[in-house]
Amino acid sequence: MTTIYLKPHKEESLKRFHPWVFSGAIAKVVLDASHKASAPEEGELVSVRSSANEVLGVGHWQVGSIAVRILAFGVEALPADFWNERIRAAYQVRESIGLIRPNNDTFRLIHGEGDFLPGLIVDVYADTAVIQAHSVGMHVYRNEIAKAVLAEVKQVKNVYYKSDDTLPFKAPVEGEKTGWLTTNDQRQTTNDEYWSQENGLSFRIDWLRGQKTGFFVDQRENRALVERYAKGKDVLNMFCYTGGFSLYALRGGAKTVDSVDVSQKAIDLVNVNVARNFPKATNHTAVAADAFEYLSAQREQKRTFDLIILDPPAFAKHRDAVKNALRGYQRINAKAIEMIRPGGILFTFSCSQAVDKEAFRLAVFSAAAQVGRKVRILHQLHQPQDHPINIYHPEGEYLKGLVLYVE
Ligand code: SAH
Repeated sequence: MTTIYLKPHKEESLKRFHPWVFSGAIAKVVLDASHKASAPEEGELVSVRSSANEVLGVGHWQVGSIAVRILAFGVEALPADFWNERIRAAYQVRESIGLIRPNNDTFRLIHGEGDFLPGLIVDVYADTAVIQAHSVGMHVYRNEIAKAVLAEVKQVKNVYYKSDDTLPFKAPVEGEKTGWLTTNDQRQTTNDEYWSQENGLSFRIDWLRGQKTGFFVDQRENRALVERYAKGKDVLNMFCYTGGFSLYALRGGAKTVDSVDVSQKAIDLVNVNVARNFPKATNHTAVAADAFEYLSAQREQKRTFDLIILDPPAFAKHRDAVKNALRGYQRINAKAIEMIRPGGILFTFSCSQAVDKEAFRLAVFSAAAQVGRKVRILHQLHQPQDHPINIYHPEGEYLKGLVLYVE
């Protein structure tokens, strides 16, 4: 195996189990005999040692500023049952905290660094797991990962792989980036039939055409909180995607629910989901529209709401976009706060990892001040328990939300 030697003192973060080796920390690369090229191949397993030749761990080589993502610390090679052991451990966490129940078969099984598998996401929807690789190393191991998921998670019968948009842009990869890895299932061409349960609500999951792995598993607990506050209220769910928050609001007894998303495909799914869970509901409306335009139009009509949910896509995908993103958050929050009736509630979120809690809170408070409304924080929200944060990798914290009481 290729060995990476670090510069003096650069082993310290690895000894604290931080899972990344930055390219600047590397003193030299000693290629094993199999290499024809002058550098390791992207995705290959490499062994990492300190300047004093201590064994630090083994990980995936990457091209870029993160050169190695460590999979196992203190060893020179991956143990034979590595994938099974990691996936079993992740499953046991979800099971032991009561997340997996007959009425809840939707959960994130692997959350990258948070489950000690950097570069890997696995979401489970009833009998199907959807795997997403964010590194070439995970792509190389996709079949081993699929086998381990099938072996360790009894409810899973099919594994779909969806990494078209998540593998590094220029990475040289062999094999398909998207498609079934294992399936005995005949439904694969009529994806319409894939349903999964979250807290007793049924959702149609469309990983073939949908965003991410097909569903935003990370809002489960926050949706449940909307249910608690929805009774008798006129609710507006902005950036609704497949209607997660809308379904919980309807079950919570909302008077009316309006769902808005720019994607017509998402709106079609919201309607399917509402019809399946609340076949008699006449108090739900779904509209395909741009959020900013929609809010301006509602304001012109002097419409107001008791409870508004704002869950936009990541406005900042990179650090250099943070300033613009904060302006975006302020703008959209100002528009929403203006339309909340006195005594109403705003659920507002940011899933931009690059925007921290404090900056987001400031943007939302500035929005309230801008439109002359007094607000208080009722809850501070975050990602749920199946999106754990590796304490040595605080970068894994990305979802934050505020529930505001608006005077
Ligand atoms: N709240 C959703 C997840 C939202 S993801 C849930 O609980 O599942 C963000 C959504 O914003 C996506 O569905 C995307 O289609 C939508 N979106 C992106 N830009 C938009 C815009 N300008 N106006 C309205 N919706 C937008």
